[in-house]
Amino acid sequence: MPEYTHNLHQPIRNALASDNEKERTLSFLERLYLPEIAKGLFYTFKQMFKPTVTMMYPEERWDPPAIFRGRPVLVEDNGKERCVACGLCARACPPLAISMQAKETEDEKERYPDFFEINMLRCIYCGFCEEVCPEEAIVMSKDYDLVYHSRGDAVYDKSRLLVPKEELKERLDFLREYRNRQFGQFWKFQEANNIHSVRDRDENWETSLSIVDILEAKQKEKSA
Ligand code: SF4
Ligand code: SF4
Repeated sequence: MPEYTHNLHQPIRNALASDNEKERTLSFLERLYLPEIAKGLFYTFKQMFKPTVTMMYPEERWDPPAIFRGRPVLVEDNGKERCVACGLCARACPPLAISMQAKETEDEKERYPDFFEINMLRCIYCGFCEEVCPEEAIVMSKDYDLVYHSRGDAVYDKSRLLVPKEELKERLDFLREYRNRQFGQFWKFQEANNIHSVRDRDENWETSLSIVDILEAKQKEKSA
């Protein structure tokens, strides 16, 4: 058992008082405080001649860079949503902000969302929906000033979520440039393993072939 040496009749040393002991003594000028006040005023004066960074919002609006994660939107491709209503985004969304109902369509993609809603009061702008989407159908936009007049108003339906792909070009280009690099940091990149990334499609986004189709076509070419 350790020996208890502290004398209970002696007051414990006051940490605050001992800090004060370490305080350096101020010179006469320092005790006047006037030079320090003058220094502060001079610093403020200097800032008046520096370029201003304040924007006169909302008249002046900030155009965020492509890396910015504003509200999530659905990509509209040739007048239709790219979304195939697979439900991955809803599954990955941490605050359960996304809800949808799939329906069959005659189109090649076979399924589309009959309704698709994002509750923007729940959304935390994490970008997980964008990350998991195999179709690059939901992306983070530059939209950052959202105002609602009621709770219902904050639930965005397809009519408010759909944005033409031309308007989202910067973000789509950004994703193509960077998403796979991030993926490659942790795994040795193999095309065949990466069937759920933005490079699921041909690079120019012209044929709409998935990477599985492209690889199959290459294999057929080789074996022919
Ligand atoms: S950004 Fe995050 S919180 Fe918002 S809808 Fe997408 S997954 Fe959900
Ligand atoms: S993950 Fe993409 S394709 Fe699937 S439901 Fe969400 S937006 Fe649609």
